[in-house]
Amino acid sequence: LSWNEDGWGSTKLVAKFPKMTQKRYAHIYQLLDAWSLSVNAITPVPRNRIVLHHSSITLGNKLGNGAFGEVYKAKYLPNGASESIEVAVKRAIGDAQRSTIQEFCHEAQVMGVLQHVNIVCLYGIASLEQPVMLVMELVTGGDLRKHLQTTQNISHRQLITFAADIASGMKHMAQRRVIHRDLAARNCLITNSLKIKISDFGLSHLGQEVIVKKLKKAPIRWLAPETLQKGIFNEKTDVWSYGVLLTEIINRCATDPLAPRTLKEVQEWIKESDHPHRIKNGEPKELADLVDVCCDKNPITRPNFQTVRRRIRGILETANVLGPISGTLEMKKSEERKS
Ligand code: ADP
Repeated sequence: LSWNEDGWGSTKLVAKFPKMTQKRYAHIYQLLDAWSLSVNAITPVPRNRIVLHHSSITLGNKLGNGAFGEVYKAKYLPNGASESIEVAVKRAIGDAQRSTIQEFCHEAQVMGVLQHVNIVCLYGIASLEQPVMLVMELVTGGDLRKHLQTTQNISHRQLITFAADIASGMKHMAQRRVIHRDLAARNCLITNSLKIKISDFGLSHLGQEVIVKKLKKAPIRWLAPETLQKGIFNEKTDVWSYGVLLTEIINRCATDPLAPRTLKEVQEWIKESDHPHRIKNGEPKELADLVDVCCDKNPITRPNFQTVRRRIRGILETANVLGPISGTLEMKKSEERKS
């Protein structure tokens, strides 16, 4: 492997393997190839963020389970560094099949083109041995869904700040031509200082649009009408999911979006209703208004993330700093019981 640098910090990868090695390490070759192509086209990327050695990673406690693997807290010693750093490692379960390795490589490829304060940062992928591991920035505050469900007295301003952080991350993603395809509160992690980090790029796509013939394991409740009907995924369908995420923030994730409808009923409702996710009297009101804009059934008049981010920044600037303190879930439930 060799790198050609253009003097601007941008690198171009040149990979040459003997035929046999090429076959054996086809997944790495494929990753590097696709990565260098996309990365060279879009943005410079630090060269040390690609293939890492297993010996540089020490696994710690388990943090969670994902669809393709388990996530662990770990220590990673970067090349040449004297001290290790704390990271999160997503590890394939057991001896991963070729398809799982490809899923990991794909996730690394997508994360590798993103570099933003509101997106989980990728350090690299350890794919020279089994188990294949994705090494990422560690985010210790849990996910937004759990946070909204369990934290008391979150101010309106804080809720709007969460929404603004997510819009910033998504604007960056759209600029880098990444479609997330699974934007939801459960996939937004929170730092201890309450910054949002968008995560879970397992379903993401590198490119402006993708049309899926059959929706498998799809997050139906978060999907736009054109996705449910024609399998289309693009920036505008991510904006729809962002609108649904706003309803989760407004409802503090008390229920799934459009619950108690079944998945079949959700699909019918989205087809029939003019404003399937409209929340009347929702708080903060500014977010409830923004739901209508993001969940516009016509993708042409639906805004892109640049516009959404501008709108939410405007909302944040005018939001009362002290803001009304919203009731906790438990308080709300007991009020409901009383009434
Ligand atoms: P999958 O894509 O396979 O569903 P996820 O990426 O959602 O897996 O990860 C599963 C769980 O692991 C998450 O719900 C979260 O609790 C934890 N997790 C994932 N990434 C991180 C991270 N960077 N820092 C801390 N915890 C993480």
